[in-house]
Amino acid sequence: MSELAASRESFRAEVARFTAVEITPNATAWDQTDPDGSYPMQLFTRLGELGWLGVGFNESLGGSGGGPVDRCILFEELAYGSAGAALGLYVHTALAAGALANIADRGLGERFVPGMLAGTTTGAWAYAEPDSGADVTQVRLAARRDGDSFVLNGSKMYITNATFADVILVVVRTSGEPGKLGGLSVLAVDGNSEGLTRSSMHKLGMRPSELAELHFENCVVPADRLVGELDKGFRQCLAVLSQGRVFAGALALGLGRAALDTTIAHVGTREQFGGPLAAKQVVRATIADMTTRLRTVRHLVYSAAEKLETGEDYDTDASIAKLVASETATWVSERCLHLHGAQGFMLESPAQRFYRDCKINEWGEGANELQREMIFEAVSRGYRP
Ligand SMILES: Cc1cc2nc3c(=O)[nH]c(=O)nc-3n(C[C@H](O)[C@H](O)[C@H](O)COP(=O)(O)OP(=O)(O)OC[C@H]3O[C@@H](n4cnc5c(N)ncnc54)[C@H](O)[C@@H]3O)c2cc1C
Repeated sequence: MSELAASRESFRAEVARFTAVEITPNATAWDQTDPDGSYPMQLFTRLGELGWLGVGFNESLGGSGGGPVDRCILFEELAYGSAGAALGLYVHTALAAGALANIADRGLGERFVPGMLAGTTTGAWAYAEPDSGADVTQVRLAARRDGDSFVLNGSKMYITNATFADVILVVVRTSGEPGKLGGLSVLAVDGNSEGLTRSSMHKLGMRPSELAELHFENCVVPADRLVGELDKGFRQCLAVLSQGRVFAGALALGLGRAALDTTIAHVGTREQFGGPLAAKQVVRATIADMTTRLRTVRHLVYSAAEKLETGEDYDTDASIAKLVASETATWVSERCLHLHGAQGFMLESPAQRFYRDCKINEWGEGANELQREMIFEAVSRGYRP
């Protein structure tokens, strides 16, 4: 094993130990406390102290170095304990801090990113709106220039972490009409800005995370909070979202692995018809299929992460990884619940939690239908598996 591979395995073991002690034992309680969520805020400070929020970020911004593969390891292992808890950390680091570190000018990046990587400043990323879901071109939230500021009017919906986030990266329309990507800019908005109201939303899964609806009414944001170029900021952020697909794939892999391990434990001990369920050939075949599909996901996610790390063209591989990882997590979670029978249907069982948590991965980071469109376009340009 190379020195790099050995250090990565040791990082994986360290995160897995942390998850086993500080996440997995709390996952059911975090899930059931409140359908609005009640995010375990200590995770920001603990991961900040450990330097893990900074994995994949440059040291000059307070990062810990490492690259996309290390960040996949982190999200995979955290999601193994609680996908909902991992989701809040993923949005904070990969999307919010990622856009500030890579797209914002140096001054704005230096203002926020070190605190975000230390876990003392929290972040959110907001593009979804009541009329703008998979189709981002429909963003309507208006930002009108007024001297040294922008004045925001409109709404955002389903925004992870936004109930508490100190800084929210908000995709706004600075010019043009809905239907076009041009004219969309990104602003780093203070969570406690005057004119911004945030209300939490009830949800089916990923319950440790918090989701907010945001209303902006004449909310004044200083012009120096522009992330990237005026009218082009969202287009510039597409690279951050494309990278996000690889990390979202790792998160789905961690969730799927947890469902598999829970299933293996259950079918090994639950006895029906004179022996454990694991003695039945059809059950053994299901476990084999779950394992095989997750193994495929592992290859797809980590090969996309390696391409990203070495600067190769990775976009299509990121789409394929996110598509297969999310649909596999859904399939594995459904089989997990199925093999648990009624026991898995009870709220104290992790099986029903995996089943509720997995679905968002199919819509997040670009709905899977859009991934299929992008893969088809790449095939038309000559991409081959
Ligand atoms: C738990 C959770 C966390 C979230 N966190 C965030 C966040 O932090 N920031 C943020 O901005 N948003 C967030 N979202 C919202 C997320 O961005 C949207 O769910 C996503 O963009 C899809 O939009 P939509 O849900 O409105 O679905 P819609 O766009 O209304 O799509 C509905 C259905 O149609 C399908 N569909 C869409 N387009 C096509 C097409 N062209 N062809 C065929 N089928 C299609 C979709 O796959 C879906 O099945 C979150 C959502 C949830 C549930």
